[in-house]
Amino acid sequence: MVRVAVVDREYCKPNKCNLECIRFCPVNKTKHKKAIELSPDGKHAVIYEDICIGCGICVKKCPFNAISIVNLPDELEKNVVHRYGENMFKLYNLPIPRLGNIMGIIGRNGSGKTTSIKILSGLLKPNLGQVGADLEWDDIIRRFRGTELQTYFAKLANNEIKPIVKIQYVELVKRRLKGRVGELLKKADERGIVREVVDKLAIKHILDRKTSELSGGELQKFLVAAVLVKDADAYFFDEPCSYLDVKERLRVAQAIREFIDVSKKYIMVVEHDLMILDYISDQVSIIYGEPGVYGIVSKPYGVRTGINHYLEGYLPAENMRIRREPIHFRIQVDTRVKPETEYPILKWTNIVKTYRTSGFKLFIEAGEAYPGEVLGIIGPNGIGKTTFIKLLGGILEPDEGEVLVSVETISFKPQELSPKIFPEETVAANLRRASPSTLNPASWIYAELIRKLGLNKMLDRYVADLSGGELQKLAVAVALAKQADLYLLDEPSAYLDVEERLSVAKVIRRIIEEKRKTAMIVEHDLMLQNFVSDEVIVFSGKPGVEGYASKPMSNREGFNKLLRELGITVRRDPQSGRPRVNKPGSYLDRQQKSIGQYYMP
Ligand code: ADP
Ligand code: ADP
Ligand code: SF4
Repeated sequence: MVRVAVVDREYCKPNKCNLECIRFCPVNKTKHKKAIELSPDGKHAVIYEDICIGCGICVKKCPFNAISIVNLPDELEKNVVHRYGENMFKLYNLPIPRLGNIMGIIGRNGSGKTTSIKILSGLLKPNLGQVGADLEWDDIIRRFRGTELQTYFAKLANNEIKPIVKIQYVELVKRRLKGRVGELLKKADERGIVREVVDKLAIKHILDRKTSELSGGELQKFLVAAVLVKDADAYFFDEPCSYLDVKERLRVAQAIREFIDVSKKYIMVVEHDLMILDYISDQVSIIYGEPGVYGIVSKPYGVRTGINHYLEGYLPAENMRIRREPIHFRIQVDTRVKPETEYPILKWTNIVKTYRTSGFKLFIEAGEAYPGEVLGIIGPNGIGKTTFIKLLGGILEPDEGEVLVSVETISFKPQELSPKIFPEETVAANLRRASPSTLNPASWIYAELIRKLGLNKMLDRYVADLSGGELQKLAVAVALAKQADLYLLDEPSAYLDVEERLSVAKVIRRIIEEKRKTAMIVEHDLMLQNFVSDEVIVFSGKPGVEGYASKPMSNREGFNKLLRELGITVRRDPQSGRPRVNKPGSYLDRQQKSIGQYYMP
């Protein structure tokens, strides 16, 4: 076995502990050798993997959960591709770029997806595990001899592959790229296709805007467009669907196929919305391991079986169990039977509301919501979802109709994770501000919210140092911890991996049931939306002009309505039960359309 010891520098704080890891290490106690000691600058612990016996005592003793130790089979060592440094993350294998196939990548956050993309796009030269070494390309190419990666790296080393990456965190663009969208796209356009791309992604209306004025979804489409117009040989899309509605997600998927010739170009996509990843990719590679410690890239699988294996938690080609439990998305389609004794927490008649200044008009169908109920909200941006909530909360007055039972307080998690929503510096201070009881380890909210989201491990960390996924979990926790009658969470899945999406969904349901309040969840990952919501309200119409909000309806009815408007049919995968988008014009597509069953008949 080979030992991999990782000390997380964000968590290790020798000036705040009693150096328990060093004092209790049984090897250190022998006085001949040291398996663990402080770094020369005293800032973190250093573990010598060849001396450490892997007893795990330091892992348990560390008050900040900064240490991870795993033992991996010897034969895996020949597959090390990169290690960031001593006691840092280690990546084994790489996803294989292939002409003729779009390669999807699935894996937990912190498992090495971005690292793989950085290596394959030439941004990071792999060190094959030899920390500090600046290897010659010949050494790297030799290491991959006899594999498809040999040819790929040979071309990359000779500058015969020009790569382009759609980065994960679209918010970064606001700071780094200043100017107007139209001008920036024109400048990027090496293929003379900017007009077609703008049409396909429907972004004409933002061409005159500055990047600083764009919403999350608009930034996302702008970046996807900027990548498509580049004349590259290898295209990498790191989470291209966050902040986009269902229609836009499908458009992005279609645009990637339409504008990049997959027979001549390498294409890779990282995406956690599995219905979309399934729709975009031909094959998938799964990255498994322990987030932040090590990641192993699987062999490529066909897209359907690969996603099913991932959900099942077992990879047959490598004979590897990657998770103890399978992931089951509860696909609930029929209406919940409401107990007759219950009073609604919210009740409204048919409502009409017009904004005098913009002229936007919203029509709402009468409906009600009950304590403990989670309502899903689906529909495009700019269609009146926020206006609807403001009417329910009495912040706006209807022109026609009325809210019969209104809520007094609303707790809101906005879509974009700007610093504004975290007024305090640390994770703990923000949670305490939301509700003092959140940090009491004996409280149910600590057990059900803080611990279930893994926030207990990062209480001392600064908000500014958190990753997108960590910020999202904090934002959801802050919103749910507050006292309110109605909880509105706008896209709680952005930047979360599949497993985190599932735990956030479970946490939302549990907290709302326990508090006997109501939540409305705006969510475009349909698999997740179906999992989290009891019923859905479907928004349709013309964004910015006119919106229609349906009454709350069963998932089946709501999804049917949404997909009918999009002209898309979705079938059920017989093995996993998950939703899969039908190819337009295929037998199933035509059959489902003919019987009007757009969602999983
Ligand atoms: P993913 O994209 O799957 O979320 P990444 O490839 O970004 O994961 O990161 C994998 C691991 O490598 C993470 O634990 C991260 O902390 C670590 N890591 C990423 N970049 C660096 C770096 N420059 N130095 C040290 N560790 C890094
Ligand atoms: P969503 O939440 O679905 O994105 P909103 O309810 O925020 O949609 O907005 C719907 C439409 O109403 C948008 O076109 C928006 O520009 C417009 N709008 C929102 N608030 C106001 C306001 N206070 N005055 C005028 N127009 C508004
Ligand atoms: Fe020492 Fe055991 Fe920690 Fe290794 S795992 S550094 S032997 S305490």
